[in-house]
Amino acid sequence: MKGSTVLHIGFDDTDSRKGMCTTFLAYKIVEYLKKERVKFLDYPYLVRFNPNIPWKTRGNGAVALKIKTKEPLVIKQNIIKFVKKYSATRDGANPGLVFYESKDIPKHFSEFGKMALCTLVSRNKAKEFAAQNGLETFYLGNGQGLIGAIGAIGYNFHDHTFELISYRDESNLGKRREIFKDSVMKMQQITHPKTFNNFDANKDRILIAPHGPDPVFFGVRGEDVKSVIQGASLVKSQEKFRGYMIFRSNQGTGDHLENELNIKDLKPFSSGYLIGRISERPIIELGGHVFFSLTRDGKTAKCAVYRPTGLTGVASKLIEGDFVKAGGGIRKASKNHERVLNVEFFEVLSLDKDMVVMNPLCDRCKKRMKSKGKGQGYKCTKCGKTSSKKVTEEIPRQIRDQLYLPIPSAHRHLSRPAQRRSKLNTKIEFDNSKKWFCNLN
Ligand code: ATP
Repeated sequence: MKGSTVLHIGFDDTDSRKGMCTTFLAYKIVEYLKKERVKFLDYPYLVRFNPNIPWKTRGNGAVALKIKTKEPLVIKQNIIKFVKKYSATRDGANPGLVFYESKDIPKHFSEFGKMALCTLVSRNKAKEFAAQNGLETFYLGNGQGLIGAIGAIGYNFHDHTFELISYRDESNLGKRREIFKDSVMKMQQITHPKTFNNFDANKDRILIAPHGPDPVFFGVRGEDVKSVIQGASLVKSQEKFRGYMIFRSNQGTGDHLENELNIKDLKPFSSGYLIGRISERPIIELGGHVFFSLTRDGKTAKCAVYRPTGLTGVASKLIEGDFVKAGGGIRKASKNHERVLNVEFFEVLSLDKDMVVMNPLCDRCKKRMKSKGKGQGYKCTKCGKTSSKKVTEEIPRQIRDQLYLPIPSAHRHLSRPAQRRSKLNTKIEFDNSKKWFCNLN
């Protein structure tokens, strides 16, 4: 394409809980760009940012596109029209859109994405970043969407996955999604481990479909384009969808929990991990949630394991002295509670011995002796054998030194599933011949 420009496009915050979805806007924009015959240089990106920020609609996802065009001005103007037309601004969306014309994205852009992944970023910071780096911006409302938009164009995928998202026909919006459960279970069996988080056997629940009024029909996540296409072809339903698009994504990479949090300065809404010793035995609170304390360098952080994670049983088996890595997000302090790490996974790095002081065991009868009274020693009630002292014994631990992950239905989009434990997709190759966009209308 002679005389053409490489254009990076990022956008976010176009949807509300009442409808729409930023990925569907991406689908509409790609449909338009295909008509304009621009050259696509990569799959659309679906980048999930910090899942612990309070104002996300659902999964804190932003989208970026990378294209080559001879008409950047027209393309930009028309994309602004799309954002204006399709954003749910009346229901609280604050869309942000950025354009960046350059063959490559400067390396330091990825730092902005990293910040948005793990911390709370201010709108001013985003506006400053755009001004200092020559980004063209467009926004509506307060422009909160600029954060995700900037983060998405410069995101550094040190690992990536794919998601095929299919979209519903307008006539079906708001109706129940009727997807045959058996077909999803079968799809999981056939495509595992190339796809992930399709079905939660613990809960007997489909995970591929949302429940709200948004236009997403279902999404299949996996390691490569071929697998997500195969997975989607195995999903059976009476409903005909309008088309699909495949995104390159950071979903399933666990990227938001890669950084160590500073226990001396836990920032509300930040994500990451803490390493420390259990300094207080876990307690089970109302609702079955488990709380324990981790201590490091003389500082203590309270950690919460919530019941839906399916991890409370095992977390309650921790004891003082266990050395643990716990990943999650920092819940803001309130009147009734201090700052808490909401645990998304934990790994037991080493277990302490669980020693308890007990009455002595009668070695003949294998029964615990009974106390004869204060300071008078112990006696076997069966054979009469006596002993003067209590004994210290080691209780077998009911937890192992290993990684503990939540059940799939409690996963966040970014959570790294067990099957991806040592998996890294690093090769960035775009194969335009693969059917990554499909419009059935
Ligand atoms: P969906 O998943 O359906 O696209 P969503 O959960 O992504 O919805 P949005 O409506 O996009 O929700 O809202 C998230 C908002 O938070 C966006 O405006 C985004 O720019 C902003 N944002 C993302 N990461 C951060 C961050 N780390 N700090 C502050 N704001 C952020």
